[in-house]
Amino acid sequence: MASENQKKANPNIPANIVMSGIRPTGMVHLGNYFGAIRNYVKMQDDFECFFMIADLHSLTTHPDTSLLKSNVRRVLAENIACGLNPDKATFYCQSHVYETGELYLYLNMLAYKGELEKTVTFKDKARQHPENINAGLLTYPVLQTADIIMHRATHVPVGKDQEQHLEMARNFVVRFNHRYGEIFPEPHAFNYNQNLIKVPGLDGSGKMSKSENNMSTLYFADDDDTIRKKVMKAKTDSGPTEMNSTKPDYIENIFLLMKLVSAEDVIQHYESAFNNCTIRYGDMKKQLAEDMIQFVAPIRQKATDLLENDAYLLEVMGKGAQKARESAKKTMKLVREAMGLNYF
Ligand code: AMP
Repeated sequence: MASENQKKANPNIPANIVMSGIRPTGMVHLGNYFGAIRNYVKMQDDFECFFMIADLHSLTTHPDTSLLKSNVRRVLAENIACGLNPDKATFYCQSHVYETGELYLYLNMLAYKGELEKTVTFKDKARQHPENINAGLLTYPVLQTADIIMHRATHVPVGKDQEQHLEMARNFVVRFNHRYGEIFPEPHAFNYNQNLIKVPGLDGSGKMSKSENNMSTLYFADDDDTIRKKVMKAKTDSGPTEMNSTKPDYIENIFLLMKLVSAEDVIQHYESAFNNCTIRYGDMKKQLAEDMIQFVAPIRQKATDLLENDAYLLEVMGKGAQKARESAKKTMKLVREAMGLNYF
């Protein structure tokens, strides 16, 4: 792995630092949890971790800031409710680390218009919002790289949708190191289970997401009845007619969701029922809804309690900002020296 090689080449490059972020563009959902937060919670015991609420990134698509503060509080509370421990990890808000703007500026000189325009997320968002194709949207992967390498991170726990951004981050790092000297390790997308995850939407297409497809995304803020309603609406059909047939995508999706929250014997029961053509999707969805509720309800309750404790949330944010800025200042000193921008 690149970070190991670099460590050998330059012992001053760190090898095991974790960084990841989540945008406050809406409520936290099961996709965020299984794609990213579940790994945050595991990694905070094994690594030095920086987790960030990406409020600046959210401005690329959500320029109205009237709900920003309350969304940041919610995402903060929901991550902590999922098990993120601000005493173990540095948990902070992106806009509190002013150094990021500076690093973003330098990296922009190493990023090319052509490669940015080819980014899948840019093309998707430009298609969805042709009236707001701003430069921030185009350079989103550059800002993301600045966030990651600000802490000289090597491991980036993210969902599958971020794979291309991480590849771009490595390219920017290689260019920076080549031009100015070996300062940064190459960051890699990370998942404990090896393959990166994409949690599909309940309608069998796309993915669960904060801002689109509300009915096909399960949020931690959903009450029990909403969860039941959403799961029961998930697309199915009349069932397989041939033994051991291949599952259509939308059925595979329901199994995938079940694998995330249900017990092994329950999953096996429905796998066998599918294979011998006796499956009743209505029963399966009822079971999935109840298992989903079991999983979501305690997290929802904890988040609700945390949201009532403003003083605690502000304290977490304040401490996180302090720790993240200490780390950022150290990195920027190295960057300015490497670039010859250390005039004094
Ligand atoms: P976002 O909500 O886009 O700010 O993403 C925050 C984190 O959640 C990133 O690591 C994403 O890769 C991950 N994520 C978002 N949606 C999904 C999904 N449907 N499946 C898996 N991971 C996801």
